[in-house]
Amino acid sequence: MEDERQQVLEKKKGSILILHDALIVTMDSQSRVFKNGAVAIRDDTIIAVGQSQDIISQVSTVILGLINTHVHTSQQLGRGIADDVDLMTWLHDRIWPYESNMTEDDSYISTLLCGIELIHSGVTCFAEAGGQHVSGMARAVELLGIRACLTQSVMDTGEGLPPSWTNRTAEECIQSQKDLYKKHHNSADGRIRIWFGLRQIMNSTDRLLTQTRDAAQQLNTGIHMHVAEIPYENQVVVERQGVDHGTVTYLDKIKLLQNNLLAAHTVWVNDAEVGLLLKSGVKVSHCPAAAMRVLGFAPIREMLDAGVCVSLGTDGAPLNNRMSIVDEMYLASLINKGREVFAKGTTDPTVLPAETILEMATINGAKSVLWDKEIGSLEVGKKADMIVVNPSSWSMMPIHDCISSIVYCMRTENIKSVMCNGRWIMVDKKIVTLNEEEVIVIANNTSGDLLRRAGIQIPSRMKVLCWPNNSIVGGKEERLVFGSEFSFAIKISGQVGERGSEIEQVIHRDKSMLLEDKIVSLMISRTKTHVREGAPVCGGGTGVSAIELAKAPDF
Ligand SMILES: [Zn+2]
Repeated sequence: MEDERQQVLEKKKGSILILHDALIVTMDSQSRVFKNGAVAIRDDTIIAVGQSQDIISQVSTVILGLINTHVHTSQQLGRGIADDVDLMTWLHDRIWPYESNMTEDDSYISTLLCGIELIHSGVTCFAEAGGQHVSGMARAVELLGIRACLTQSVMDTGEGLPPSWTNRTAEECIQSQKDLYKKHHNSADGRIRIWFGLRQIMNSTDRLLTQTRDAAQQLNTGIHMHVAEIPYENQVVVERQGVDHGTVTYLDKIKLLQNNLLAAHTVWVNDAEVGLLLKSGVKVSHCPAAAMRVLGFAPIREMLDAGVCVSLGTDGAPLNNRMSIVDEMYLASLINKGREVFAKGTTDPTVLPAETILEMATINGAKSVLWDKEIGSLEVGKKADMIVVNPSSWSMMPIHDCISSIVYCMRTENIKSVMCNGRWIMVDKKIVTLNEEEVIVIANNTSGDLLRRAGIQIPSRMKVLCWPNNSIVGGKEERLVFGSEFSFAIKISGQVGERGSEIEQVIHRDKSMLLEDKIVSLMISRTKTHVREGAPVCGGGTGVSAIELAKAPDF
């Protein structure tokens, strides 16, 4: 009994203890006494004293940990490699080469970086959408302290696949996932679960689909699959399988629509298919940013009205860029209110109200990842997954409607601390399970190496210039550096990167200089410098000032 009491009184590091509704005699310089007062204590320090009501609202709001039901942790190092390109370029020229060149260590680093962003946005549990090297992901999840359903990216057919991905049979795909299940399921204090993956129907033979269905049932785990993402997908399914609509209809036909299926996106579905999703208990992960950017407007309102369990996901960094479920909550409400224009001819501000969105990001998320017996709500007996929000900032104040404030006003920056499985993993906006800065530096280098290995080159847009690697020509004393998209060259005194070096001469480039293949970029000082003789040249430019330069009026 005494031990139990001791446990209750013993605070976890970083936790906040609030004594409230008490007479607080402060003995401060003004001799204040609060009749209905409160004291808030963090670790060993009083952090607030005042009227109960003020302190409780000032110190924090505690809400349930948020659940992101569709995230590609392996793609985090590919953020920005496929912005503003069509879907086929996105897939064939950027994402597949990127993913197929990943090592297990790359997946580990990528998942760490992604996890940092997830935790900052209040996520305590996520569903991996299917990526490379599940063992690397598992290592990262174990360290991060977060909860996850991890899934391998699985395909056994399809056009344009990278060489290393072809020739995988359905049997091999199933076996490798069974091995992962054996190795990692229920590891990390029960925070990791292993699911089966199906990348999408155009990359799956019938054999793979049905074997996945059976294997998941046998191991009593879930299946995560991209479903009905684009009209072309439905068209292919109709042509190949002779069904009257698309993927959902076909998955029903082969009995893959079951309550352990988490269907990501599910944009191009008709009313009958919404009925099939409901009947079979399939969960849908709605990813608003990805929907708006590439896929289209899913009938989310219709699904929710019918009673389908819909949760929220961010998708991967190369499709969304922001891995914040907080942003997705906001977007989910807006996109679906706006979508009514297509359905009814006018927007409908009552569609997907804040309380529905909060359900999607919490309890529906928990149902989607088949974990709702243990997480998804703050209830006695459930796991302690929660977040502490500091609403006392310009972004959330004043609060007149606390639920709408969480959905429409809260930003990632308002999330102060995160607890997963009863353990603080972020305290005062600092992740305590790893060194964030170190991960960021390593991730940056790893990502550069990976892109080089994969041969991915991102075409420059606008006149972005960056530091030269091989663009320096000329003698030791004189250096010429060239703007890649400019018809000029610059002669620099001293060494590039050396303090005091300056532009000696601006030369207009002509064909006789034969520099086309050598020209990479232009030197520039960190300050906004016009290209003119006498301008200083400093080292370590990043290209940002080069953009400024391109816009400079003298240029
Ligand atoms: Zn996805």
